[in-house]
Amino acid sequence: MNYDAIVIGAGNGGLVTALTLQKKGQKVLLLEKNNVPGGVATSFKRGRFEFEASLHELCQYGKNADGDLAKLFKELGVIDKLQMVAIPETFHVITLDTNEEYTFPVGVEAFIAQMEEYVPNSKKSMENFFELCEEVKEALAYLNSTNGQPDKKVLKTKYPNFMICASYSLNTVLKSLKMPKKARQILSTYWTYLGSPSSKISFVHYASMLYSYVKDQPVIPINKSHEISLTLYEEFLKLGGVGKFLTEVSKIIVENNQVEGVETTKKEIYYAKTIICDISPNLVYSKLIDSTLVPKKARQLTNSRQLGARGVCIYLGLNKSPEELGLTNYSYFIYHTLDSNKEFKRMHQLKSDNLVGVVLNNAYKDASPQKTTILYLTSLIFSSTFSKIVNKENYFLLKEAYAENLIDVFETATGCQIKDAIEEIEVATPVTFARYTNQPDGVIYGYLATECDNLLPRLMNMDKENYIDGLFFAGGFGPRLSGYSSSYLSGNMVALKAMQRKAKETN
Ligand SMILES: Cc1cc2nc3c(=O)[nH]c(=O)nc-3n(C[C@H](O)[C@H](O)[C@H](O)COP(=O)(O)OP(=O)(O)OC[C@H]3O[C@@H](n4cnc5c(N)ncnc54)[C@H](O)[C@@H]3O)c2cc1C
Repeated sequence: MNYDAIVIGAGNGGLVTALTLQKKGQKVLLLEKNNVPGGVATSFKRGRFEFEASLHELCQYGKNADGDLAKLFKELGVIDKLQMVAIPETFHVITLDTNEEYTFPVGVEAFIAQMEEYVPNSKKSMENFFELCEEVKEALAYLNSTNGQPDKKVLKTKYPNFMICASYSLNTVLKSLKMPKKARQILSTYWTYLGSPSSKISFVHYASMLYSYVKDQPVIPINKSHEISLTLYEEFLKLGGVGKFLTEVSKIIVENNQVEGVETTKKEIYYAKTIICDISPNLVYSKLIDSTLVPKKARQLTNSRQLGARGVCIYLGLNKSPEELGLTNYSYFIYHTLDSNKEFKRMHQLKSDNLVGVVLNNAYKDASPQKTTILYLTSLIFSSTFSKIVNKENYFLLKEAYAENLIDVFETATGCQIKDAIEEIEVATPVTFARYTNQPDGVIYGYLATECDNLLPRLMNMDKENYIDGLFFAGGFGPRLSGYSSSYLSGNMVALKAMQRKAKETN
């Protein structure tokens, strides 16, 4: 069968890619190895609880549905079918070794005032920071609108401060704003969401995420992320797209450095001259394409990138309400200290117990039956330690020990007793994620963002990374890096790029 484009993987990136192309009149085939769309954007039931598999906070959507992601969902014709609820606070952070605790409201002014209360004399630098955030937001919107080919003159004249800070790390820029050290550390609390410490993470990337959360408020879908996945998929079908589940691609056919089609594990063959992968380049270049046909540069680039965070998630259904348990916040970032470099190093070891706790009912009261609570504890690991030591014999013991430790840490940090209230518990490890998504080593955050390989260089070099004609990457391993909004937005951007290339060839 011949198609204009084949999309491999129906995760966030794949779904938006497929829908964008279909909406533009292309004949698209979407292939997914699981039995439902969404990849990790899904949910599952245990007893009387329906657990969200991954989403804590959706960025760039906004309480008033005016963020970049909301605009994209409007364009794709799905926004009216989604019900979002705003999270009433930004972050709440607790440190175990230094006994600190800070909670921040939404809204720029309120956020600055709260920081001034915690860190006197931080106000001026915080104001400058948020002013810069606004310029970053506008500059990124311009970059997106140019599809990775901006006019450098426009960048320099319209966004001069953005250009100055574009290649620096979060910490370097905050220091240059003369922000007091404590305020810098507190402000960097969200670093685990982007999976890189403040000395490595790109200022632009972090600033755009934090600004979106503080100014526009984070949101979550009332019916979990599965609602978004299903809505995108249904719209794709409505427009005539073809989707096949339980269909795993085992080979990408390449001839004369041009993709020609795919073969599945069931030995079906589908043809298309555009193939967009919602999976890692590691998997594509090492398993799906004959190694003799992989260009050296593609292999070199993939090998030079480090894998991002792996994760252990504990999904808890508790038989008491948040009030009964004393859980008053939505998110609990629990670290040993506020020094992200130190904590990042700690998180290379298996015994790392830094975690993010999320109380779903504190954003949406009816997220579970009355007088119950859904609590997620997620702990990141920045190495392949877990996969290296796990085997058939120790897996369940290891999982149990890990879960018990994280629950203990959460109880110690918050002073709330949750163990006696556990009605349902499920634990996902890197092994679970690897099996479910096929991502290497069960990575949940794509590639690690480093000083020289982060959001901007990726966006600017997007075209140079097309080593095989017709082959593109979207999703968490794509040009906008990992995260829900990044994956959706990259799906759209890459689909448009693929069409542009096709149009050039036809002319
Ligand atoms: C526990 C957890 C918490 C998170 N929290 C947040 C958060 O709060 N906010 C946020 O913005 N981001 C969060 N993220 C990150 C975010 O979920 C991901 O970055 C994003 O969903 C990745 O989407 P993706 O398109 O790369 O696809 P994936 O979800 O990785 O999906 C890839 C799809 O491809 C399919 N596939 C793989 N191989 C094949 C093949 N050979 N043939 C056919 N199909 C194949 C897989 O089955 C899968 O469905 C979280 C992630 C996790 C796991």
